[in-house]
Amino acid sequence: MKKLQYEDSFVKVAGLLGGDEYIKVARALLNNENATDEEIASATGLKINIVRRALYDLFGKSLISGIRVKDPKRGWYVYQWKAQTDQVDAFLNNRKRKIMERLKKRVAYETGHNFYFCGTQSCKKRVFEEAIDLSFRCPECDGQLQPHDNSEQVSAMKWKIEQLERELGQAS
Ligand SMILES: [Zn+2]
Repeated sequence: MKKLQYEDSFVKVAGLLGGDEYIKVARALLNNENATDEEIASATGLKINIVRRALYDLFGKSLISGIRVKDPKRGWYVYQWKAQTDQVDAFLNNRKRKIMERLKKRVAYETGHNFYFCGTQSCKKRVFEEAIDLSFRCPECDGQLQPHDNSEQVSAMKWKIEQLERELGQAS
């Protein structure tokens, strides 16, 4: 059995998607190519339904492949699973692209509106039209809604967008 690093990107992606349970399943898949659900369950110590849920999820995201084979001992069909480690980069880039799109929309929204805020961290920030309707009174804490400068958040988001663009540029 080859020794695996925690940093292995396949394992890391699995962890991003489903935490410790997925990490265990991912490691078991790398250690045992063409493993069945039951083999993975016994290798990880996880319940079979948890293993299956993780496998179907990873399969749905094209991170693993599955082939249906006849179990020679028992005569019924089982699936054998295999990590598609070459799909990890494509998956990560796709995810980055989605995050970037979401951030760009958020930046457009943040820069396109004036915000009003009472200063209480747990309260909502309001756009100008909302603040007028509320007579500049926070309905959550009764504090006064004051003009809120969001330029720091906006530049943080822009920085993140640039970082993602750089990473995606290097990948293609
Ligand atoms: Zn408030």
